[in-house]
Amino acid sequence: MGIVKDILYKTANKRFLKIFKNQTIFPYYHIVRDNKVSHIENLYQFKNCKQFLNDIDLLTKHYNSINPKDLLENKNNKNSFLLSFDDGLQEVYTVIYPILKKHNLKAIFFINPNFVDNNEGLYKHYISIIISHLKNIDFEKSTLEKISQKLSFSYNSIDEFKHKFINIKYSEREKINDVLEFLKIDIKAYLQEHRPYITKEQIQEMINDGFFFGGHTMSHPSLNQLTHEEQKKEIINSIDWLKENFNINYSFFAFPFSDKSISKKLLNELFEYDNNIKLFGNSGLKKDIDNRIIQRFSLENPKKTTAKQIVTENLYKYFNKLIGKYNIKRK
Ligand SMILES: [Zn+2]
Repeated sequence: MGIVKDILYKTANKRFLKIFKNQTIFPYYHIVRDNKVSHIENLYQFKNCKQFLNDIDLLTKHYNSINPKDLLENKNNKNSFLLSFDDGLQEVYTVIYPILKKHNLKAIFFINPNFVDNNEGLYKHYISIIISHLKNIDFEKSTLEKISQKLSFSYNSIDEFKHKFINIKYSEREKINDVLEFLKIDIKAYLQEHRPYITKEQIQEMINDGFFFGGHTMSHPSLNQLTHEEQKKEIINSIDWLKENFNINYSFFAFPFSDKSISKKLLNELFEYDNNIKLFGNSGLKKDIDNRIIQRFSLENPKKTTAKQIVTENLYKYFNKLIGKYNIKRK
């Protein structure tokens, strides 16, 4: 969160929630889980079941729920909310799906086809697994040296090492396999043991139950590090994969990491691909250049009070309107 948002959060009063009810909201998460897990624990914090259930209670008390099918039919949706979940982690099936079903809520799950069925994983998740391993050996100096050499970065503290390691370029991701090998971490065994990602069978079961799936690129790259054509391919292939494997006739897609760098040209090509496509970003309560682009905000941080967070997002919306940043501009 930026400085302004921090200040707004401190002043946000949950009683304001009533005032801001008109604004439809699209909160998103990745995972809900009661204990930590190596492939996520060094990347971001997340909510446990009880905290997630509290969110559901709060949202259903203040907002109507949207069925994603209403989005496709372009129905009006005031006072509403729709949840979505990125990265296709196994917990969307084992934890989130049963909770949503019990509360009669529908949602959209954005997945990376390359990781479905656990033959391969997201490079950031591999980095987290490596950092957990390094923690176990007390961040042994010579080991950190060797890794930083392999990835050609320098560091002055363990925190800086972690920060630089987590933020290496997508094009450097092949080197992560060298690091795994160097540390004798058997990643295939990890994937088989922990099964971090959802399977095709599970996706089918959820679709049969009225849940919706969308693409999130094939391999979760930072799109701004790819060429225009590569970006387009990563995006469209992930939507097509869902259509081919599950007989889906709609197009949902969420941009990985951020939608900030996405060009007008690419967006127009995606609208050409499917005139009724719905694209999801994570820029908060902002208005994009086309109403087929839906902006979301994260409710994943367990340290924030959900009601205050929703109020903050709404206050931040008015702040952005004041400074002329409410309308997203794209080149
Ligand atoms: Zn993602």
